[in-house]
Amino acid sequence: MRYLVTGGAGFIGSHLSAALVRRGDEVVVLDNLSTGDVRNLARVEDSSLEFAQGSVLDPLLVDELVNRVDIVVHLAAAVGVELVMNRPLRSFITNIRGSENVLEAAHRYRRKVLIASTSEIYGKSDQPAFKEDGDRVLGSPKVDRWAYSTSKAVDEILAFGYHRERGLPTLVVRLFNTVGPGQTGAYGMVLPRLVEQALTGKPLTVYGDGRQTRCFCHVDDVVRAILGLLADERAEGDVFNVGSTKEITIAELAQRVVGATQSSSEISLVPYESVFEEGFEDMRRRMPDTTKIHELIGWRPEKSLDDIISDVVSDIRAKRPATTGTTPGRQREPAHRYS
Ligand code: UDP
Repeated sequence: MRYLVTGGAGFIGSHLSAALVRRGDEVVVLDNLSTGDVRNLARVEDSSLEFAQGSVLDPLLVDELVNRVDIVVHLAAAVGVELVMNRPLRSFITNIRGSENVLEAAHRYRRKVLIASTSEIYGKSDQPAFKEDGDRVLGSPKVDRWAYSTSKAVDEILAFGYHRERGLPTLVVRLFNTVGPGQTGAYGMVLPRLVEQALTGKPLTVYGDGRQTRCFCHVDDVVRAILGLLADERAEGDVFNVGSTKEITIAELAQRVVGATQSSSEISLVPYESVFEEGFEDMRRRMPDTTKIHELIGWRPEKSLDDIISDVVSDIRAKRPATTGTTPGRQREPAHRYS
């Protein structure tokens, strides 16, 4: 099969493209390299991969590429809380207009489309675990985080609408915190940032009181979920949470990173106000209910948090040979100091 992966030079897109090529499919990647990086595609065999540098905001290019493939995986979107906060209007437009262009072209040529959505959809819901049909709890649209959540909800609505009213085979995945090798910390993602800080002897920046929790899922598991859902026609017209259900506080994550890297770095609690604009709201907890995907295709994450941290540490170490601030070979208790 021939796949178009928008955002295919990004973190998840490049892992997905590599997996598709490995199993014998052909991939066309569309990426404007605003946050993606062609180096992410280095692990993909050249002959089965075509790279098109361009934007999902270019309807003619999207039309041409969609026409040439069998299936579309639409991952191109504004990524990372910090980027969304810094460029809210651009993020909003990219998400909505990009998805419209992709879905319109897919409808024109009757191509199956998977739309990547996000756990941000649920906003500040206080449910212990988010179910796909659960309520969304959002603040004012003037707050960038809720505007971003709304933009992804519009993407979902478009996907559902094209399925229900136009008969297009679409499906939506809501990705929770996805991590693994190749993810950049440049746009706010916590794990690569903490690892980078630990490996360079800098304080690990834990925002707020560090007691907020997240569930981290290895990108390999996420790719397996995407491929499994794409292969099952029963997933069409529907939406699925994809993520880990193992919860950890960010403070504990930082301690685990210090332990795994044997870093001499301190863990530093950083007030939200010094990083984000006033009024920024962080989610205290965020855990998916993954019963739906498990019941449909039997998916469950396989990789543990230790596997994840170890993969991310090896990846960042490999890219950064100088490991100042670490004490390799010396076994010690992780630092529990907070400054
Ligand atoms: N976070 C942190 N230090 C950082 C970056 C993020 O403590 O350097 C926190 C952030 O406030 C949030 C959690 O880590 O509570 C996960 O952040 P990320 O941006 O990775 O994902 P999201 O907020 O979308 O869950």
